[in-house]
Amino acid sequence: MSSTAEAPQDVIPARLLQGQKALVTGANSGIGKATALGLGRAGADVVVNYVAHREAAEEVAEQIASFGVRSAAYEADVSKEEQVVAMTDRMVEEFGTIDILVANAGLQRDARFTEMTLAQWQKVLDVNLTGQFLCAREATKEFRRRGVVPKVSRSAGKIVCMSSVHQLIPWSGHVNYASSKGGVHMMMQTLAQELAPEKIRVNAVAPGAIKTPINHDAWATPEAREDLLRLIPYDRIGDPEDIAHAVVALASDLMDYVVGTTLYVDGGMTLFPGFATGG
Ligand code: NAD
Repeated sequence: MSSTAEAPQDVIPARLLQGQKALVTGANSGIGKATALGLGRAGADVVVNYVAHREAAEEVAEQIASFGVRSAAYEADVSKEEQVVAMTDRMVEEFGTIDILVANAGLQRDARFTEMTLAQWQKVLDVNLTGQFLCAREATKEFRRRGVVPKVSRSAGKIVCMSSVHQLIPWSGHVNYASSKGGVHMMMQTLAQELAPEKIRVNAVAPGAIKTPINHDAWATPEAREDLLRLIPYDRIGDPEDIAHAVVALASDLMDYVVGTTLYVDGGMTLFPGFATGG
């Protein structure tokens, strides 16, 4: 039996992140959009990064502003160093600082191994891994410049890397994607170790199967849905809000002692459900 109940929208404490400035990459769609909205509901001012579909990004920013916080849409390709630097510089100039980075932008270019082109491999690594490296590096410079402001947060800054269950689960036909998320895992832990003494917290969220445009084919038909649900002990496909809630919590002082952790938000997908009745 699978629950189709809507994800609750109003469970986020309204002042949890009051006074903080958050940057969410790839925030005009899917998980990034839900996360940007969630951070706004929690009282943060939010920059909505996008690389395409400006109107969609501006709509997200308008919706966030309706919660009574500041929001703006900034264009930047996260895989391009000069664009990332310009985006973070602009955020510091217009919003004053950066307290939270959600390095979310990501994509897939799927192919069987020997059919995969170097361009497909490189594009996914450039956006999913190098993009997170660049955004994290620039945000860290700002966290370090500003330091801890106790009335805003106990830490100097928070980075939440959007990973995937495929940082752990191998995935045939997606070697570029799985490798990029495996890289995110080790990058996140290494940054967490290096930056913790400066009171910068780096963590990751690893979503399972979430209903967004990136994996439309995996849930759009009843047959595909049935196949997918076999991999999910909790017996429902995730909503973008499931991920947003995890990110808001991780970015807040409720989780101030959580450093270098991956929070799997996957309905139990990483519990190897194939072994539930055998093995
Ligand atoms: P999505 O396609 O809706 O969102 C991805 C966003 O990233 C889009 O807004 C896209 O424009 C943006 N983006 C792509 N390239 C970019 C670039 N170069 N610069 C800036 N932005 C760029 O898909 P989603 O499911 O919301 O994915 C968000 C993140 O969640 C990704 O990192 C993805 O790997 C991860 N994820 C998703 C799922 C899932 O089931 N949907 C599962 C695990 C992990």
